[in-house]
Order: sequence, then structure tokens, then C-alpha cells
Amino acid sequence: MHHPHPLPDAVAPIFEEVIRRNPGESEFHQAVREVLESLGPVVAKHPEYADSAIIRRLCEPERQIIFRVPWTDDSGRVQLNRGFRVEFNSALGPFKGGLRFHPSVYLGIVKFLGFEQIFKNSLTGLPIGGGKGGSDFDPKGRSNGEVMRFTQSFMTELYRHIGEYTDVPAGDIGVGSREIGYMFGQYKRITNRYESGVLTGKGLTWGGSQVRTEATGYGTVFFVQEMLAATGGSFAGRRVVVSGSGNVARYAIEKVHELGGTVVACSDSGGYVWDEAGIDLPLLAQIKSGPGGRVADYAAAKGGAVRHISDGSIWDVTCDVALPCATQNELDAEGAAALIRGGCTIVAEGANMPTTPGAIRALREAGVRFAPGKAVNAGGVATSALEMQQNASRDSWSFEHTEERLQEIMRQIHDRCLETADEYGAPGDYVAGANIAGFTRVADAMLALGLV
Ligand code: GLU
Repeated sequence: MHHPHPLPDAVAPIFEEVIRRNPGESEFHQAVREVLESLGPVVAKHPEYADSAIIRRLCEPERQIIFRVPWTDDSGRVQLNRGFRVEFNSALGPFKGGLRFHPSVYLGIVKFLGFEQIFKNSLTGLPIGGGKGGSDFDPKGRSNGEVMRFTQSFMTELYRHIGEYTDVPAGDIGVGSREIGYMFGQYKRITNRYESGVLTGKGLTWGGSQVRTEATGYGTVFFVQEMLAATGGSFAGRRVVVSGSGNVARYAIEKVHELGGTVVACSDSGGYVWDEAGIDLPLLAQIKSGPGGRVADYAAAKGGAVRHISDGSIWDVTCDVALPCATQNELDAEGAAALIRGGCTIVAEGANMPTTPGAIRALREAGVRFAPGKAVNAGGVATSALEMQQNASRDSWSFEHTEERLQEIMRQIHDRCLETADEYGAPGDYVAGANIAGFTRVADAMLALGLV
């Protein structure tokens, strides 16, 4: 990867050490570099961080677990996958973060996600540390029985490492309430404990929280609502492009429409659909929840002017606001150039690290306001922390109350980013604000806890 901007002198050797100690983990290097680029003014102001090697310690996970996951498929054949849990930092609370089941998962992906999670969770202001896990298991085309056997085998190892006060996994790509259910069932059976707070993203009848399903998408839109309001605007009448069509994308689309904007395109790995009338969410949800449902089927079902484009880029669709909500590095410099040409003024990351460094640079140079995932998509994990609160008090809150809490948390994260950016001489810079505000809260807790 080409980086024209050198790192601040104080952190450059730390980055070199990270590369040397974690060979081949390009996504992890990218996530670390993005944070370190913001920390120059912080280390200048706080020599105590360097004295106790806070940044070096932050880049080294507290614990990394890699394990074998054997299972049998429907034809009785033995299948083998690899499981991961990276317990990155527990200065602020138990390790917290999702599990991703996707064939692209390897240690470098889990570590990039776990590293991001530390700062994201810190930004929420809630008592949660950072971690992430998953497997290279590919759920695509697998039967319900296969998913259950794989997931039970995964938990048969994972259970010994997690707990309400230790490490609390949740969902991510490929892990939704069905998988959380099978994992919770297996955990309960092995431990003989109905320990609701050990997993979040549970179903509403067995310890889950209202709004958790919607939270990442809704939170993303609440954050952008604050960005718009900061310059006297709103979603009313705005054209929005949302990449992806999974959990984050769908609830982002729903909330944009509720607030008066129009989402004109969404996508999956097979291409994107373009619907000038606004994406018909009930239809999209119905298609995507069926077996093998693709956005191409949406265009086929709609007909008329609705088009499916399988060999283009969703960023070619003109819009005011772009929300990448699919996966890492989905928006590159070419996509950024297309967005700039189309007059886009705001890009906010609903997914984790969907924008490449080259794309971020191009957007910022063109004056597009850019907000990073660790701030924008923090509503998911924040609502997980609210689920943990409800579990700890054996209580459950109403949808309205929980959504209000979420919206207030997103408002606070937004304001914390802008205030911190101001304080460190980078007004309006959401990247610097998110990285610095996330970092200082963890760093101060690590200082207070001594050399552990
Ligand atoms: N995987 C989600 C994220 O990236 C949610 C994690 C959680 O709820 O613990 O933030």
C-alpha cells in the first residue's frame, strides 16, 4: 500500500514493530496505521503515555486464542475450520466484540476488527473493553443443521474463554440471532448456567434487548443526522447510497427513509440495484431472508426502471450521502473519485474500515466530510452494552426507551469527536477526533491500572 504521508516521528518505530511482529496481516497494519496517524499531537501533550509504553501495549492483544473446529456436514463427511478469539484490551471492561463467520477470516482480519473495537467501545463511554473473533466457516449454502453443528462445535471450545465479567461476544458478518441462539444454548448446556450476560444479540424472549437488531444501522443514521445538523441540514430530500444489504444496510435504509431521505441504491457481492423511487425495504428484506436471496432478485421482482448492475460500482450512483455498510476496503480511490464527481458531501462508515486509505485521502482533499466506522457504527456495540445492563438487572426496557438511549449515545459520540478534534487543532476532522477521544479514555485507564 502506498502512503505518501509519513507517520509522526514519535509513533513511526511503533508501527515498524507492529509490522515486524505481525507479518502478513495487512488489514491489521492498516487499522493500526490509521490510529497512529492521529496520535502525534497526543504523545506531544502527554509524555506519560510514552513513558509507560501505552501505544506499544495497546497494539499487542492481551490474549489470542486459535482453535480447531471439527464438525460433520449433512452427508456425514468431516469438515474442519479454524476458530479465533482475540481478547485485545480489557482496561475499560470485559472484552467485547462480535464473531464473524466468513471464508475470508484469518488472524489479520480478527486483529484489525479487535483493534478497532477497542477505540469504538471506548468512544461509547460505556464500560466495555475490546475483542473480536470468528471463523473461516462459510455459511453460504449450508443447511440449518450444518450451521447448528458447526456453531455448537465452535462454542464447545470458546465457552472456557468467555463470561459475563470476562469476554462477551456478539454477532458480526455471518452471525445473527440464529447463531447467537445456538451458541447460547450450547454455553448453557456445558456450564449449567443461564448466564444471559455472556453473549449479546440474543432473541427478545431469552434475554435480548429491543433495538439491538436495528442498532448499528439506526445508529449510523443518527450519527449522520448529527453531522448534517452541525451545518444546519437534515436528511429531508437527500439522496443516499447504502452499500450492502445485510443487517447494517437494511436498518440504515429504514431510518434514512423515516427521516425523509431516499436511498436509491444498495448492493451485495453480486452487484447493486438502482431504484430511483427509493429501495423498497419490505421487498428487500423478504428477498434477502430467503435462502440464497440476492439483490438481483429485487430488480427482477420490481421490473420497470429498476436496474441491477453486476459489473459496475455502486459509487457511480450520484448521491449527497454515501454510507458504506458492507465490508472492509469496499470503497477505494476510484469509488471515491466517482462519489466526488457525483457531488457527494458526506461519507460515513456503517461497516468496519470499508474505506481504503487512498479513498479517505481523496475524499478529504475534495472537502467531503468523512466519518470513520469506529464512531459511526458504534451504536451496535453500545446497544449490546445496554443489553448487558438489562441482563445484569434482570430487566427489559421498552423499544422507545432503548432507542432514545441509542440516539443520545450517538449524539454524545458525535460531539465528543468534534470537541476532541477542536482541542487537538484539527477542527471538523472526525477521524482525528474519534481516534484521539477513543485512545485517551483507554490510555488513562491503562495508566491507572498499572503495568498489567
Ligand atoms: N460486530 C459489531 C461491531 O463491530 C457488534 C459487536 C458487539 O455488539 O459486541 O461493533
